[in-house]
This record gives sequence, C-alpha cells and structure tokens, in this order.
Amino acid sequence: MIPVNSVLQVGHFPELMQAEIDRRFTPTLHLDLQVPPPGGQFEAILLRSNTKLPEALIKQIPSIRMVATCGVGYDNLPLTYLKEHGIKASNTPGVLNDAVCELAIGMMLGLLRRIPESEAFIKSGGWSKAPFKLATTLAGKKVGIVGMGRIGQDLAKRLEPFKVEIAYSGPSPKQVAYTYYPNILDLAQNSDVLFLACPATPDTYKIVNAQVLEAMGPTAFLINIARGSVVDEEALLYALQHKKIAGAALDVFENEPNPNKGFLSLDNVLLTPHIGSATTETRIAMTNLAVDNLEAFFAKQPLPSEVSI
Ligand code: NAP
Repeated sequence: MIPVNSVLQVGHFPELMQAEIDRRFTPTLHLDLQVPPPGGQFEAILLRSNTKLPEALIKQIPSIRMVATCGVGYDNLPLTYLKEHGIKASNTPGVLNDAVCELAIGMMLGLLRRIPESEAFIKSGGWSKAPFKLATTLAGKKVGIVGMGRIGQDLAKRLEPFKVEIAYSGPSPKQVAYTYYPNILDLAQNSDVLFLACPATPDTYKIVNAQVLEAMGPTAFLINIARGSVVDEEALLYALQHKKIAGAALDVFENEPNPNKGFLSLDNVLLTPHIGSATTETRIAMTNLAVDNLEAFFAKQPLPSEVSI
C-alpha cells in the first residue's frame, strides 16, 4: 500500500502508463517543471527516464527518501546528490530487454539491407526505371557489442542464429563465450557491425569518437540503442558524410526530441525516435515494476530493482 500524498509524480507519462499508475495508486502530479512543486511531505518521486530530475527540485523537498525512475537508464537522476543524502533509487531493468533487442535486430537488418530506402524507392516509382542498389549480407560478419550487460547479452543470443562472430568490450569480462576486448578501439577495429548497449556515465561519454569511427572503417555499421551521449555526434556526422563508416542506425540522440538536423538528410542512416522499449506490453511491465519498487519502499521491504549508486 502506498500512503496517500506520499508520492510526487514528476513529469508526464503517456496515457497507457498513467492509466497503469492510476490503477495501482494516486500520485500527486507535478507536470510542469517550470513552476514550483506542490507543497507536501512527499517521501518518494516517480518519473520516466526521459524526464531529467533537477537537483534543485529534490532540494526543495527534503522529505524525499526514494526516487523511482521508469526505465533502465538512470542518467536522468542527480546521482551524487542522492548518494550524499542517502536517497534510494530504483529503475526497471530486464522487463524491457525483449523490446530493445527486437528493435536492435530490426535496425541492424533494416540498415544492412537498406529496407527503409528500398521502400521509398518502390513507392516513388523508382523500380520501373532501374534496379535497387545492392546491400550487405550479415552472415559471416563480425559483430561487436559495447556493454555486455542485460541487453547486450540478450542481443548476443539473438545474434547467434545469424551466423556471425560475436565480441564485446566493457570494464570487465563476463561469463559468456564471446571474445572480450578491454578496449573499445580494438573491438571497433574487429567489428563489421558495432552495437552500443552500455549505460550513459562519465566513463562512456562520447566513448565513440573520431578515433573509434576511423578504426571501424568504411565498410562497418554503427547501431546505437544506448544513449546519445555515448557518441560524439559531430564526429559521427563527419564520418557518415565522408563515408568513413558505411552507415549508422540511431535510436537515441544527444538532443531529444530535436536531434542534430545533420542526420536527417543523410542516406546512410536509419533513425528511430528513442523507441527501444516503446511497446504496449513493455511499457505496462515497466510501469508496474516502478510501482512495485514504490510499494516495497513503503512496506520497508528490499526494493525489487534498486539502483546501486
Ligand atoms: P546493464 O545490465 O547495466 O548493462 C550495461 C553494461 O554496460 C554492463 O555490462 C556494464 O559493464 C557495461 N559498461 C559499463 N561501462 C562501460 C564502458 N565504459 N564500456 C563498455 N561497457 C560498459 O544495463 P542494460 O539493462 O543492459 O541497459 C543498458 C543501457 O541501455 C541502459 O543504461 C540505457 O541507457 C540503454 N537503454 C536504451 C533503451 C532505448 O530505448 N534505446 C532502452 C533501454 C535501455 P559492468 O557490468 O562491468 O559494469
């Protein structure tokens, strides 16, 4: 049971998710972050991972002891402040792996086989004038995954039937049968397709830079399902414009929902508007896990998915 007037919902949730929240309990809404929050002794905050929680806001409500973010990435939270003040945080890992991996596989196939471009070709009547250009086979290629975590491992399992060689990079080797490169540069050099599935942290900020793109080479493809901040977008734009890499599929951008316009006019990109977890089933599961965490907090039970800050 979540006590009344104890949870402040910061920012909007889509209708489906809001209905799920309202089915479980009634939060106090703070939808417009430009105005001061409503008064009250709130103990917890509920928000989506695409809503940045300003440190200034949480400072105004010293009674807050817990923050539940709906999403696996928690780069939207003021982590240092939370840690210093012993405020717990929870996220929604695992329940979105299937949706994110399905999108990642779709983006990879769409990019290598030029599926969106071929659809535009046929719809514009191009087929009657000339054959469509040749694309790239996936089988036999080397696929690298930056971040062999929950999503990275589920993605690797889905890649196995495609007859590819799988390798990964990250801070430490995992209990998996794939080749481990401690350094992203070495992974990039040895990948025809490079997936980004790591969190946004100070360590991963612009981890894909000009040097990494150069190491990938003109026949390699980049697929970012992690966060926009993981890529140096200016360097990526240059690499795409000058065919330093073959192409990129991007679900996430530094400036969402207004991505760098440079990407919009390129023909070697496939772009999606941060829809990794955007399925009905997944969004319901994420919302319920976020509320489960709030319930556990008020029941003084261990949180089902506490973030270790
Ligand atoms: P996770 O289980 O925590 O896995 C993240 C992995 O990244 C871990 O294995 C971690 O290694 C590794 N990592 C950390 N720093 C790294 C670095 N510098 N280089 C390479 N790897 C590094 O998280 P997850 O559930 O798989 O989610 C991963 C990320 O995907 C999230 O943080 C989120 O930003 C993003 N995401 C995007 C969408 C979307 O809609 N596009 C949806 C969901 C998630 P250690 O275990 O050794 O620390």
